[in-house]
Amino acid sequence: MANILVYALHYEGAVNKNSLGAVSEAAKLAGELGGEAHAILIGDGAADVAGSLGAYGAKKVFVADAPAGLAGPAIDAMAGVLNGGDYKYVLFGGGLLGFEIGAGLAARLGAGVAMEVTAVTVQGGELVAERPILGDSSISEIKFRSDIGIIIGRLNAFEIKQSGGDAAVENVSVELSAQAGKATLRTRGEQRGADVDIEGADVLVAGGRGLGKAEGFDLCDQLAAAFGGNSAVAATRAVVDAGWYPYAAQIGQTGKTVAPKLYLAAGISGAIQHKVGMQSSENIVAINKDANAPIFEFSDLGIVGDLNKILPKLTEAIKAKKG
Ligand SMILES: Cc1cc2nc3c(=O)[nH]c(=O)nc-3n(C[C@H](O)[C@H](O)[C@H](O)COP(=O)(O)OP(=O)(O)OC[C@H]3O[C@@H](n4cnc5c(N)ncnc54)[C@H](O)[C@@H]3O)c2cc1C
Repeated sequence: MANILVYALHYEGAVNKNSLGAVSEAAKLAGELGGEAHAILIGDGAADVAGSLGAYGAKKVFVADAPAGLAGPAIDAMAGVLNGGDYKYVLFGGGLLGFEIGAGLAARLGAGVAMEVTAVTVQGGELVAERPILGDSSISEIKFRSDIGIIIGRLNAFEIKQSGGDAAVENVSVELSAQAGKATLRTRGEQRGADVDIEGADVLVAGGRGLGKAEGFDLCDQLAAAFGGNSAVAATRAVVDAGWYPYAAQIGQTGKTVAPKLYLAAGISGAIQHKVGMQSSENIVAINKDANAPIFEFSDLGIVGDLNKILPKLTEAIKAKKG
């Protein structure tokens, strides 16, 4: 049997949405491989949410009694389950903790690992992971030569799908290695920027790499504040990856999908992966200094020029109009 084990992260009574995507994806892939999708949840509160994963296609959910939020105990717990069962792949929804656990698990099991995976297919009865390379301009395909292959998705790469069904819940005790106690978690906090509600906004001022630096977002903040009401600031992946703005505000294939009344794009080139997240906006206005930028091909109004000059003028004009 080619079963797939998924690491599922949970916090305050809810399973992380990237983990739900990974469970859904594992269920689909396991079905094609003729195996089952199983999941593992770790730490306090895991038992409360374990059964809910059946709806996403997990046939069995392991509840491990070990400290949550750290890679060491999770590696011990997962290695125990993998060694005691019939598994061919391990899937993670992404995120830093997923990278840490996946890397540690690969070292522990002598397994192959692929990170930042954006798609997984079944070819000849085996999983093939697709990973963007060379600044996302090309896709590489990865096949595993080890007994177990570890696949760590890029955030939001896997679609959440409810397929219905029940999961058998099994408690597992974990023998913690000496290494697992080398770090302790002091505080577990909310995701930075999680309060940004870009999906519900009527007006979105979105900033891209053309802003030049993190502080460039001040111009977007000021314009959104001038619009007032239900306005918010959003971002492209390029600037989120650069650490200029929180991930919660990312629009596109690996971010959120939005459809505000007005989408104002400042310094955004209009890559297809960004377009898919905002193309349903009612009105698209783009400011870009390059007249040939792809974003102008799907904008209702295009302004060719320097955003550093245009955004402050626009902010003043909106303020004046609103009195
Ligand atoms: C699998 C995959 C998933 C992806 N998912 C996403 C996603 O979810 N969201 C997303 O956004 N991207 C995503 N990307 C990345 C995407 O391909 C682009 O790299 C990204 O959208 C580019 O961001 P940008 O427009 O901010 O930067 P750039 O492409 O660098 O564009 C910057 C623009 O700013 C303009 N500019 C520069 N200076 C100024 C100025 N002073 N005034 C006016 N204009 C100026 C430039 O002319 C340029 O057009 C993904 C890529 C892959 C491969």
